[in-house]
Amino acid sequence: MDVYETAIVGAGPIGCHVARYLASKGRKVAVFEEHRTIGEPLHCAGLVTQRVLELAGCPSEGIVQNTIYGAVIHSPGGSVLTIGGDKVHALVIDRQKFDVSIAEKAFHAGAMIFLQSKISAAKRINEGIGLEITKNEQKATVHCTLLIGADGAHSRIRDVFGFPKPAEHLQGISAELSEVTLDPKYVHIFVGSSIAPGFFAWVIPTNGKGTTARVGLCIGKHHTHPLPHYFTTLLQHPLLQGAMVMKRFGGSIPLGPLKKTTDNHLMLVGDAAAQVKPTSGGGLYPGLLCAEQCSSAAEAAFQTQRFDEGTLRRYHVAWSKGIGRELALGMRFRGLYLQLTDNQFNKYIEKLNTPKTLETINTYGDIDYPSRLAFPLIRVVPSLLTLAPSLLKRTKP
Ligand SMILES: Cc1cc2nc3c(=O)[nH]c(=O)nc-3n(C[C@H](O)[C@H](O)[C@H](O)COP(=O)(O)OP(=O)(O)OC[C@H]3O[C@@H](n4cnc5c(N)ncnc54)[C@H](O)[C@@H]3O)c2cc1C
Repeated sequence: MDVYETAIVGAGPIGCHVARYLASKGRKVAVFEEHRTIGEPLHCAGLVTQRVLELAGCPSEGIVQNTIYGAVIHSPGGSVLTIGGDKVHALVIDRQKFDVSIAEKAFHAGAMIFLQSKISAAKRINEGIGLEITKNEQKATVHCTLLIGADGAHSRIRDVFGFPKPAEHLQGISAELSEVTLDPKYVHIFVGSSIAPGFFAWVIPTNGKGTTARVGLCIGKHHTHPLPHYFTTLLQHPLLQGAMVMKRFGGSIPLGPLKKTTDNHLMLVGDAAAQVKPTSGGGLYPGLLCAEQCSSAAEAAFQTQRFDEGTLRRYHVAWSKGIGRELALGMRFRGLYLQLTDNQFNKYIEKLNTPKTLETINTYGDIDYPSRLAFPLIRVVPSLLTLAPSLLKRTKP
């Protein structure tokens, strides 16, 4: 039986980021990935802030496909609200190259990455965890002192060891398009019950000419049609007339960060822990932040050789008090968002279309920290206060 100090399930960006840190500290780290290629299958719109590249330590070159200055928000009634435009607010990345870049860093730091190696069973044994790995229909077992579940939205590690589940999962569908004619500086966001009930749809230009795009949408629990119906509706939008669909992909987004992410010899991180922004579905920024906290708590555990829940819990406390507060507030914003009817979307989008509110949005808007905009916006549009009471309730880590 192979023995590792740390085994990480999932060679996504978050698992590999943890692997890189621990391997750089000289720990014996193995990463197990069920797929044969890093970054595939793709399930991401690839819209991030500069902070993501900085946290991951990835170069822009070869990874950043386009820069985004603003957003055009389409109401259900067809009116539009254009925000931003003054400076770069987001980057469009090639997600597969991004994932490969992080995995290469982990590998060069000394982590072993095993592809086509699915964790098919896991249980506690001898002061650690025993894992069953299935590769090409052959089974093998390994032992690790610390197991890190970075195995995505439908984490098996989360389920096997009885961690709580995310509050909800969004269902997503997406595609790469060519032959579009877009302003490359603006993403388009569509809201409303006939286009993306419970979330939103997006059109993201993926090159500086505006001729290619990544489009998609997610839906929440309550919808009247199956997911492909909404996707067909999106593709019929006049903005996408004449577009060619090159590649389709889907995915699931877990929302509602977990109340428990550590146990004896165990930690969960990234989508496995639902460390995802509930307002946008973005998981790379919060996941990478939490990966850093997970790594340093794991290294501290190795230094003291204590892997009990009490010791590892410092990771849970650290991320909950940090980005966890923003994610918890994001769940409150989501609660309000879910209550809005199409008529209310139309009304609020119209209300926000004044020079003063647009200036406030441009000044305080930050896709990683949407709460920073909430209070300045209420000052400018006091009638938004009718939405505020449930935001003001205390959030517990
Ligand atoms: C449609 C869609 C659009 C999105 N758009 C954005 C966006 O624009 N910006 C953004 O920041 N985020 C976006 N996200 C979210 C983002 O993709 C995730 O938050 C991110 O991938 C989380 O990384 P992770 O490493 O935690 O999990 P993952 O990237 O899911 O990696 C988990 C890995 O674990 C592997 N695995 C799972 N089970 C096992 C097992 N039993 N054995 C071995 N390996 C296993 C999987 O194969 C996978 O490679 C989007 C998600 C979706 C679905």
